[in-house]
Parts: sequence; C-alpha cells; structure tokens
Amino acid sequence: MSMIPYGRQDISEADIQAVVDVLHSDFITQGPAVPAFEASVANYCGAAHAVATNSATSALHIACLALEVGPGDAVWTSPITFVASANCALYCGAQIDFVDIDPRTYNLSAERLTEKLAQAKKSGHLPKVLVAVHLCGQPCDMASIHALSQQYGFKIIEDASHAIGGKYRNEPVGNCRYSDIAVFSFHPVKVITTGEGGMALSNDKQLCKRMQLLRSHGITRDEADMTRAPDGPWYYQQIALGYNYRMTDMQAALGLSQMLRLDEFVARRHAIARRYAEGLADLAATIPWQHADSYSGLHLYVIRLKLAEINKTHRAVFDALRAAGISVNLHYMPVYRQPYYAGLGFEAGHCPEAEQYYAEAISLPMYPALTEAQQDSVIEALHRAIGK
Ligand SMILES: *Cc1c(COP(=O)(O)O)cnc(C)c1O
Repeated sequence: MSMIPYGRQDISEADIQAVVDVLHSDFITQGPAVPAFEASVANYCGAAHAVATNSATSALHIACLALEVGPGDAVWTSPITFVASANCALYCGAQIDFVDIDPRTYNLSAERLTEKLAQAKKSGHLPKVLVAVHLCGQPCDMASIHALSQQYGFKIIEDASHAIGGKYRNEPVGNCRYSDIAVFSFHPVKVITTGEGGMALSNDKQLCKRMQLLRSHGITRDEADMTRAPDGPWYYQQIALGYNYRMTDMQAALGLSQMLRLDEFVARRHAIARRYAEGLADLAATIPWQHADSYSGLHLYVIRLKLAEINKTHRAVFDALRAAGISVNLHYMPVYRQPYYAGLGFEAGHCPEAEQYYAEAISLPMYPALTEAQQDSVIEALHRAIGK
C-alpha cells in the first residue's frame, strides 16, 4: 500500500528543464539565477531586498547575526514551531524563551507577549529579537506585535517558512511592513521548493548587505568595504566571520520556475482546505480557524481532536490513520519539550496552551497534487478512526 504523505513537492517538466539549462551553462553556483530568483521573490512580496541561502535555517542564523544578536541577548519565539526558529538564537550564543500560543490561530499570542514583556521590563531582561512564526502559513497578529516592538524596542524576524504566497491585511507576507527581516524556506514539503533553500527579505539595505557578507565567509570584493586598498585584481578581504550558506544556481533556477506557479499552488491548497472543511464538519475535531486579516499560505492543515467527545486517545487516532495508509504528522511538539531544550532547563508546563495543542493536533495531507479521491480516503479514514 502506498502511503499518502502529509506534504510533497510538485515538479513540472518546465521546472526540470530550468535546472537542466543551468547544468548546460557556465555557472552552476552563484551565477545569474540566484539574483534573478532573489529579484523574483522580492518583487512578488513587495520587499526591497532579498538574500537567497542554502536553507531557511541558515537564513534565520544570519538574520539574527545581522540584527547583532549575541551572548547576553534574549530572543523569544513561539513554542509551536520547527526547532530552527529557536536554534538560530542559540547559534549566536543568545538565550531563547517562548511565548505561549493563541488558542485559535496557534500562533504566538499577542496577549501573552504583552504580559511577558511587561514582566521582562521589570526584571530588566527584554528580548532583543522576536521570531514570529506564521504557523501553517497563517500570518501572526503582526500589527500588534509591531506596536509592541516600538514600545519595548525589540526587532522582529518573521519566520515565514510556511507562508510564502499568503497575505496579511491584503498585502503579501514577506513585504516586511511590520518586521525587520522575513525568512522563507524552500524545503520540498513547503509551498515552493528548491530542494534545499531559503531566503531572507528586508527593506533595510544595510541588513541585507550584512547578510550577503555572512552568507559567503564574510568576504567582500567591494573596495568601499575594504580596510585598505586592494593589492591587485585578485584581491578580496574577509572582514567578518561568515559561513558558506550560498544557494546554487541549479536551486535558484528551480525556485524561479516554481515562482510561476506559486499563486496556483496556494489557490489549490485553499480548495483542498474548503473540501476538508465540508468533509470534516460533523467530526469531533476543530478545523483550522482563519483570522479575517489573513490569507494563509496553507503549508499545513492541522485539526485538533475534541478528545472529551471521542472514546479514543490521540495516539490511537494517529495509529488508525497511519494503518489506513495516511502519513499524518504532528507539527509540532513544543520546542522546549525537546530533550536538548529540557537540558537547557525548560520544564513541562512552561506554555500550557502549547501543550494542550500538542495533545490534540494532527496534520492532514495538504499539497497541490493531492487528488480528490485521495482526499476522500483521508476524510473517510478520519471518520472511521474518530467515529461519527
Ligand atoms: C522548515 C522550517 C524551517 C527550516 O527550513 P529549512 O529550509 O529546512 O532550513 C524553519 N522554520 C520553520 C517554521 C519551518 O517549518
């Protein structure tokens, strides 16, 4: 029996040809496709600048470094996210903490953030950066978060790994109207893919210049940035401690080609969500609630079991779905419950709403190529697993 995955890439012949064309060309890394892909995404989102990287994880790392996160600083994020949203702070030697989630959107709660900031101000340890994660592709309450950033003086990175193609208040996610930097992921399960890849967008030219430098070893060939005159035409200077976080031209060509179908992908995801909403209406489960301000990128479709109305455990429902050939998943365990984070001193109960979510959530298959017949089999299996 072949399993229905929770997510997968959609690669066309045109996508394949775009990669092959690069392989026939002079440059397979750092050629013309990388800046073309950066321009395409920046233009789509309405951001001034973009820096492509080899993953969203590396983009988050250099975004933190560009905002001068370092030892002694605090970074806050949501507990319900992929570990990379938090790890980026630890890479910089900073401390991480978590703000509990909103019970309806499952994003970091602006109310909990307001309370936590007031406390942190009293104890004198305000965060330097907040990583706002747009879970499942639904944007956070960015207007409130931005207002708090003005009041308390922290910077904002949007982890928009799930959200390319989505909108907040009718404007594209990634335009950085309410943030300093926004990051996308192009991992194969995400909305568009480059195999592995990421991008950081910003309206701040200096921040992007800094991220470009850090993406490639901290090396510059720009005379204006050098500490002394070049010795000759071969000359470059390393002026910061950077990394090799570059995207290849093959990846960028794939991304550029995928961009042509981004709106189609997201529209298809919304059509699948509407069909789930109909098919699951009478089920003892909460389907994704959407705030009126948001048009989600819909990377994920998460339902929450109403366990009080079901005489099965969360685990038993999971197992029944897997046995029926459906690779349901769970996004995510609260990051601070990971053994590594427990080792940093985080304890169970730190974010009660997040833990409640973790006890009930199931990610259903959601990707453009999911057929109606496959979706029907998911809906049917859920009814059988949950009852009614
Ligand atoms: C996938 C993901 C990342 C990391 O993306 P990579 O491109 O795989 O490094 C970061 N944050 C979130 C929320 C993600 O879902």
